[in-house]
Amino acid sequence: MSTVPREVATAVAAAHDDFADARSELDTLVRIPSISGDPDHVADVDASAAAVADLLRASGLEDVRELRVDGGHPYVVGEWCHAPGAPTVLLYAHHDVQPPGYVDRWTSDPFEPREADGRLFGRGTADDKAGAVAHAAAVRAWLRTAGELPCNVKVMIEGEEEIGSPTLAPFLQAHAAELQSDVLLLADAGNWAVGTPGLTYSLRGLCGVDVRVRATDGPLHSGMAGGAVPDPVLALAGMLASLIDEYGDAAFDGCWDDYEAPGDAERARIAALPQHVDALRRAWGVRDGVTLAGDPAVSLFERLWFRPVVTVIGIDGHPIAGSSNQIVAQAAARVSVRVGRGQDPARLNDALARHLRARVPLGLEIEVTTLDAVPAWHCDPTGWAFDAAERALVAGFGVAPVCMGVGGTIPFVGPFADAFGGIPALLLGPADPGSRIHGEDESLHLGDFRSLIASEAHLLHEIGLHELAQSAGVR
Ligand SMILES: [Zn+2]
Repeated sequence: MSTVPREVATAVAAAHDDFADARSELDTLVRIPSISGDPDHVADVDASAAAVADLLRASGLEDVRELRVDGGHPYVVGEWCHAPGAPTVLLYAHHDVQPPGYVDRWTSDPFEPREADGRLFGRGTADDKAGAVAHAAAVRAWLRTAGELPCNVKVMIEGEEEIGSPTLAPFLQAHAAELQSDVLLLADAGNWAVGTPGLTYSLRGLCGVDVRVRATDGPLHSGMAGGAVPDPVLALAGMLASLIDEYGDAAFDGCWDDYEAPGDAERARIAALPQHVDALRRAWGVRDGVTLAGDPAVSLFERLWFRPVVTVIGIDGHPIAGSSNQIVAQAAARVSVRVGRGQDPARLNDALARHLRARVPLGLEIEVTTLDAVPAWHCDPTGWAFDAAERALVAGFGVAPVCMGVGGTIPFVGPFADAFGGIPALLLGPADPGSRIHGEDESLHLGDFRSLIASEAHLLHEIGLHELAQSAGVR
């Protein structure tokens, strides 16, 4: 391997020198509660878009603007396209966040960044405001030192990722030409472990249903009617219990029909990964006596990354507080399914609805509403863009990245890569297994954040080395 050219070393050194600025920019963004799923926070999502636009402008990006379609939340885009003949990379992150959940379960205010033990705590630190700041910081490091970027850069910071990107399709239709690129870099995934970067090549999809069962017009005295009138909560509980088998694996009718299990080569690659089960248990806070779910004959990572999984994410009966001895009239649950590789999520929704309807006891009324359906995504993690990313991550972290799957869903990835003719998509990001994204006490490892920025500065150089014409057709 040749030595790092001087301008690259200078840009990376600038990224390190400016790390305190990146940190304070992140603090500013975290203080804005840009919760896209809460109508009370529309103004905050707008304020967050404006702050991101300021950040991109300050980094030296040009033509920075906010775009929205169909009343959706604002996307912030910008570009620097003065490297004729060089590839164009589209840098993606999102500036909206999940709601804080139970605020009293946070150690401190979710929207006031707090540093402890080398980590920055706060909603959106790891998911995904650090991604937006990393893009800006890498661009700025180059423009401040070399005065130019080694490749063309477009940046897109979304404002509605956490609600499933509802206006993404019309947005892409309206702006595809402006965003046309040769490679995508999404900083909305994460590292294998603290200090070890990850390159994500596989995501699960998402679908699900709301199910409601009703027995009576209104609640009844359980002493007077109990024994004759069925309890909708227990009826629903039985139906929900039938969705999984004794290991906790999905077991509803048809849930495995179109699943594509990994082949031998992929299984061998996964088996070679460090099986850090104990570290994961600690990161998740799994209580001592609790056994992990899933067929133990299937490897942990296959269970986590590729296979369909059922989760009940919400359940309505009567809260314990204020309950009395009555049979409630109705009960409801929101059932979420992580869609396995190869599976048709609309078919899974139908199968789930059919399974529940077939198991409602005692003739209770049942109502099933299907939720959004997003397929799983994966790509072949080889080729020039993956090689470039691997070299950049080795340079930034000092450790080779782990090629990994993620069990979560980023609806954006598949449609976006497809819209530009199947261009390679590189998924990395600021989170690590202990980041508790979407949970209470979300946090970012500050050392990894610094390494991510340095890696991105390297990656702009590595992408710039790629000769487009030569590889046209084989990328
Ligand atoms: Zn995210």
